[in-house]
Amino acid sequence: MKYVFEPEAQVVVPVAGSDSLFPVRRIYCVGRNYAAHAREMGFDPEREPPFFFCKPDNSIVVVPPGQTVDVRYPSQTSDYQHEIELVVAIGKAGREIPVVQANEHIYGYAVGLDMTRREQQLKARDKGRPWELGKAFDESALIAPLHAAEQSGHPTQGAIWVRVDDADRQRSDIAKLIWSVPEVVANLSTFFELKPGDLIYTGTPEGVGKVERGQTMHGGLDGLGELRVRVV
Ligand code: MN
Repeated sequence: MKYVFEPEAQVVVPVAGSDSLFPVRRIYCVGRNYAAHAREMGFDPEREPPFFFCKPDNSIVVVPPGQTVDVRYPSQTSDYQHEIELVVAIGKAGREIPVVQANEHIYGYAVGLDMTRREQQLKARDKGRPWELGKAFDESALIAPLHAAEQSGHPTQGAIWVRVDDADRQRSDIAKLIWSVPEVVANLSTFFELKPGDLIYTGTPEGVGKVERGQTMHGGLDGLGELRVRVV
């Protein structure tokens, strides 16, 4: 037997400071996980259970340190927005993972951008339709290299920020997550068996906004590096 065409290469994220590659399996994303962002989207930041959506693994764009990577302004939007996020990388399979054991399933962490066609997401949300057109498009999951938890530990606080050109857009602290990383992993694992290679974008703080062609996003998270992306 042979393939009818050459399959796409495995999507990978490099591990910072090593020659290791993390093969990506699924991409899960958490909605409304910072109170101030829930408010700016018109919701009460009460502690409802977390909710999730997915992006395809091949929506990943890796942004190596010290480089500016180009992404194309997507079709079918005039409201292309940045969401800076802590990304969790799963290294060990599990279902129904207890909160206190969640960290054992985490390989490492990265900083990433959950890029969004905002008007498409809001139209879908308001009509009770799925979010793929707003969230799961090509080049929508931007990520810097992973930091292995063996070296970085399991961060529970640290500044998270993104600037567009020279203007501050989002600036918060991952200590303000409504659902902590172990709680997110535990809850998600009640719906899906988590497997090595899964990534979880854990939600964005307030200050989401538009980015236009020609602008450069520069984001970072304390201890997890930075990423720089130009919209073309
Ligand atoms: Mn998001």
